[in-house]
Amino acid sequence: MSRSEQRDREEKQAGTERNGKYPAEGERPASGGAAPAERRQRPRPRISETPPAPPPPPKLDDYAPIVGQPEIDELRFLAQRLRNKTVKMVNSTAVGGGVAEILNRLIPLMNELEVPTRWEVITGGNDFFEVTKGFHNALHGGDYNVTRDVLDIFMMYNEQNRQRMEFAEDLFVIHDPQPAGLIRSKSSTRGKWIWRCHIDLSNPHPEVWGFLRPLIEQFDAAIFSSPAFSRQLQIPQYLFYPCIDPLSEKNKDLEESFIGKVCEDFGVDRSRPVITQISRFDRLKDPVGVIQAYQMVKKYVDCQLVLAGGGATDDPEGAVVLAEVMEQAGDDPDIIILNLPPWSALEINALQRASTIIVQKSLKEGFGLTVTEGLWKGKPVVGGAVGGIPVQIIHKLTGVLVHSVEGCAYQLRYLLTHPEIAEQLGKNGREHVKENFLMTTNVKRWLLLFQIMLGMARPVKPDKAVVPSELPKAAPEVAV
Ligand code: UDP
Repeated sequence: MSRSEQRDREEKQAGTERNGKYPAEGERPASGGAAPAERRQRPRPRISETPPAPPPPPKLDDYAPIVGQPEIDELRFLAQRLRNKTVKMVNSTAVGGGVAEILNRLIPLMNELEVPTRWEVITGGNDFFEVTKGFHNALHGGDYNVTRDVLDIFMMYNEQNRQRMEFAEDLFVIHDPQPAGLIRSKSSTRGKWIWRCHIDLSNPHPEVWGFLRPLIEQFDAAIFSSPAFSRQLQIPQYLFYPCIDPLSEKNKDLEESFIGKVCEDFGVDRSRPVITQISRFDRLKDPVGVIQAYQMVKKYVDCQLVLAGGGATDDPEGAVVLAEVMEQAGDDPDIIILNLPPWSALEINALQRASTIIVQKSLKEGFGLTVTEGLWKGKPVVGGAVGGIPVQIIHKLTGVLVHSVEGCAYQLRYLLTHPEIAEQLGKNGREHVKENFLMTTNVKRWLLLFQIMLGMARPVKPDKAVVPSELPKAAPEVAV
């Protein structure tokens, strides 16, 4: 039987058929029992109403207990040849969003490695950011009316920033499309220019991409977050997976007492299994499908479902999806729906750590950082087989991939009743993240790429491809 046939069979059996390992419908599960849960008030999150001050950034040695001293030594070794080579990174926002989050960590680490790295943020009026937001949506496949005016606004602000900034470094890294027009300074600089694209360009608006492409092709190299997100370009392309910081509030180890307190505040009963999906209230994250899967599982295993998201109060679409979620949840007190403020990193961390299984049943996804976060916490993760999720979840090795509500229910029920397998998946998943998706790996990729750009090292050519187990951990050149 092929893998996909096997998968389809598993999905059909989901939650309804007895497969020898599961109790039949109507039977009591082995542990806990599916006794009707007590009716409780839906809990209200107790969380600060203002953002707390950010903690100071960690030092390189702080990562040694996590990734091992040899990894840190390797970074120091790689950085030696780049000592005093200067780098400028440019993006369009200092706070908010994944790019700023990564730069906030990356820049201090590069400087600690004595690779002097400056971070500059371009400025612009509301008209500029309206255009760049339109571009962003259009590059993700949305509609956009490209007029002469919007192109002029884009170039005018890029030109203003270009005049204001100096370009004396050895390496320039321009993040995303907003500052791409700075490339016009290339001819008057001695440095190498790299475009780091964090967005999915697999289906861009033709006119917007037609406008940006000639700018991008003036760079010396482009970096994408997934082979599927890239475009055919005349310049070399590299693959950098996104990363998480194991020392951030979202991912650092937590005291058991703190996890307990968060669960208590949110009404999560830790004596019964907890299934959790953390994601914006967005249909593409399929929160309603997650509830349906939970409802199938709940007939056999007494468990709870936590759906924690944010932004539903200031996003009209989020509010509609949240209403659909509430409707599907009905009055089941074991479905805990939390609409969290953006500064809930510690609470999200605690909820993930308190979970028996993490779900990310997306129908469409970018990379899926919530999957990385769940795997890092050693949890079994059930993820939709879309976007960057299959890069992280190697089916039945580092988690499980699902393709339907029934498939999701089947896998949830299987993992809840096979804790030893769930535990092994979690362990493997954590190792996979440690190897590939941590901040330290990201630093290593930059160090290697900078050496390649400056002619100090050569990339692995696709025709000299090595088998996956021999692949270097950092930055192979991507053939697209
Ligand atoms: N997240 C959060 N609060 C929420 C929902 C999500 O902080 O209410 C975080 C989540 O932990 C993850 C990120 O937002 O770090 C979402 O990234 P992902 O790639 O999973 O999805 P995206 O929202 O970018 O599509």
